[in-house]
Amino acid sequence: MTYIDPHIHMISRTTDDYQRMAQAGCIAITEPAFWAGFDRSSAQGFYDYFRQLTQVEPSRAAQYGIKHFTWLCINPKEAEDPGFAREVMSIIPEFLEQPNVLGIGEIGLNKNSRNELEIFEEHLALAADHNQLILVHTPHLEDKLKGTKLIMDAVKNNQRIDPGRVLIDHVEEHTVQIVLDRGFWAGMTLYPETKCTPQRAADIVEMHGTERLWMNSAGDWGPSDPLAVPKAQIEMRRRGHTEATISQISFDNPKTFLGQCPKFSIDGH
Ligand SMILES: [Zn+2]
Repeated sequence: MTYIDPHIHMISRTTDDYQRMAQAGCIAITEPAFWAGFDRSSAQGFYDYFRQLTQVEPSRAAQYGIKHFTWLCINPKEAEDPGFAREVMSIIPEFLEQPNVLGIGEIGLNKNSRNELEIFEEHLALAADHNQLILVHTPHLEDKLKGTKLIMDAVKNNQRIDPGRVLIDHVEEHTVQIVLDRGFWAGMTLYPETKCTPQRAADIVEMHGTERLWMNSAGDWGPSDPLAVPKAQIEMRRRGHTEATISQISFDNPKTFLGQCPKFSIDGH
């Protein structure tokens, strides 16, 4: 079945992954800027990373018939130094005009620190200034709920941002409903064993429905599975969900949210 993986870090993946994703029905992906597994030594390191995301990766994906889109930011983990973070943020605007850039992301909180929150708010202002969609990372630690609330409050405090143009990612059973209740979109990130598995994602769909909800693999440099979305499709099919429901969560919803940016085009779909 045709699907979109709206959150996967392809710079960390091999061409074999692209090939297997294409064979499983993937036609488009979006790749947020993230912590690459090490702290970069200068803002110039981010400049080159943004070139990779906007120039190199789209042509690699195109070899497999997959359209590649991206999001730019400095991730919360490297944003703990506000001076450095602002230096990186100052180079983002020149990349926003690139044809595959959909917005600002994945911004958010890691340890819920004061510095992280300050830079998160400045990213929100940057997105509002340039009318960009927003993709938000929520902390994976035990304070996910606290971090998610801090994030939603910060977005609400910025009067210029419509929650319907913000996706809050990595939701779990205890955060999905408050995110949806406040008008945001929610993303379930599927991991092979820990965090949200394909089985837990199917449970969440059964508990909360499919409106404003998507799922992604977040495949990166650590243990992760670039085929997590098609595996969740199989799990839902096994449980008797209709093809329409499976398509809504893995194709129609990402298409609707991402389609709010006119640059998101997937010809023929
Ligand atoms: Zn990510």
